[in-house]
Amino acid sequence: MGAVEKPRDALPVTAGWEYASSLEGREIVSFEERYGLFIGGDHVTPRSRSWFTTVSPSTEEPLAEVAQAGPRDVALAVEAAQEAFERWSTWRPAERAKVLFRIARVLQERARELAVAESLDGGKPIKESRDVDLPLAAAHFFYYAGWADKLEYAFPGRRPRPLGVAAQIVPWNFPLLMLAWKIAPALACGNTVVLKPAETTPLTALLFADVCRQAEVPPGVVNIVTGDGSTGAHLVRADGIAKVAFTGSTEVGKAIQRELAGRDIPLTLELGGKAANIVFDDCALDQAVEGIVNGIYFNQGHVCCAGSRLLVQESIHDQLVRKLKRRMATLRVGDPLDKNTDVGAINSKAQLDRITELVQSGTDEGAELYQPPCRLPEKGWWFAPTVFTNVAQSHRIAQEEIFGPVLSVLTFRTPDEAVEKANNTMYGLSAGVWTEKGSRILWMADRLRSGVVWGNTFNRFDPASPFGGYKESGFGREGGRHGLEAYLRFE
Ligand code: NAD
Repeated sequence: MGAVEKPRDALPVTAGWEYASSLEGREIVSFEERYGLFIGGDHVTPRSRSWFTTVSPSTEEPLAEVAQAGPRDVALAVEAAQEAFERWSTWRPAERAKVLFRIARVLQERARELAVAESLDGGKPIKESRDVDLPLAAAHFFYYAGWADKLEYAFPGRRPRPLGVAAQIVPWNFPLLMLAWKIAPALACGNTVVLKPAETTPLTALLFADVCRQAEVPPGVVNIVTGDGSTGAHLVRADGIAKVAFTGSTEVGKAIQRELAGRDIPLTLELGGKAANIVFDDCALDQAVEGIVNGIYFNQGHVCCAGSRLLVQESIHDQLVRKLKRRMATLRVGDPLDKNTDVGAINSKAQLDRITELVQSGTDEGAELYQPPCRLPEKGWWFAPTVFTNVAQSHRIAQEEIFGPVLSVLTFRTPDEAVEKANNTMYGLSAGVWTEKGSRILWMADRLRSGVVWGNTFNRFDPASPFGGYKESGFGREGGRHGLEAYLRFE
């Protein structure tokens, strides 16, 4: 009997191995039973007398009660921020820098606790909150601390001045990181802020309030108002704000833009995406497979710049899809607090319903679905890593943002065709190009209508690098020197 031939690139670890669980200690974080709003440096009871419960998406267990801020609460927060602005904006810039440095240090010191809180409230794997969200959030504060006393050098001859109170609204996919992207540049430029976290993930913003106290941020410089979309709408409408910065869906971004029409308030919008991850036949294929997996299954695909459309050169399609499926079979889906987990829980029931509906549309429209065998936990909200082949440009799964662990595979023959297909979307946030040729990466980057283009990598972030979109992915940039501009006026 001849020996059974094993595929050369098969991973032996997939055959019958079980990982022992390695749980991060939940006890490092203790939530209050009920949180008030953080206004003027204190946790205050909301005037609305209204609360809601935030739950863990991996277990559906209630974690804490959180205030639902009404219009009066929002007005109080804006007043506190206005009052604080009078002093904060006149501080010596080097003193403001020290406050930002202190925030960064406290974030580092409390990184483990905050990472656990992020994974509990949001469902993302602890290895991501620990190794990505927290280090990057701290890095943002370090980076903008460095700019605080150098604004005159950042914009020579333009006499930069702060705007006033920045109204900032963030989504649920990177709660603390998006907070850092917003608060760090605003404070470095001498503004004060009222920030509204997303309703499904308010807890790390509330813990951040405590970080601010520890870092001796003056009262009123940072205010946190929790609540759902209606709280966000009150904040956008509030008198006394001088800037709106929004990260979230394109639909809500457009509503905010309409609301601000006719008011002299600068706006930045960081919205949705449908990134193309473009793989040429001369690339290092195994590295590309890692990049594809990281591009779409990182944070369950709840990533605005996720590589949700894989454009693969036709000649390597079958080989690449085979390798990809094999790699997908090694992904571990489960408890976000387990250090071995690769794919955690879906953030909410509403998001799970949306993913399920879009995946159904993919099957109905004729695409071919593959999910590796994996046992999903009974409680909580879960979706198995999914890849669709035989996808047409017109399919909803190729056009709409799914915001879940779902990849759509399309093919191309020439670089021109890759560019055309990649740009055939209403979005323009990010893209990836995999090829051995540096010149081709530059040629592609020139033609792709995306704010960010990664070459032979994906989902890399750095505070010094500006991030933002074209088309319906929004406008304005966060990060880098560009990120300062959104929080300044020039005399
Ligand atoms: P969402 O638009 O539903 O909500 C975002 C935030 O806006 C939440 O805090 C929400 O409470 C608030 N909000 C809702 N309605 C509002 C209104 N009418 N006025 C003011 N605020 C309102 O988006 P989401 O579902 O939380 O987040 C997912 C979306 O965010 C995706 O489309 C994703 O691509 C996008 N996103 C973009 C970036 C980026 O940098 N471009 C980063 C992360 C997420």
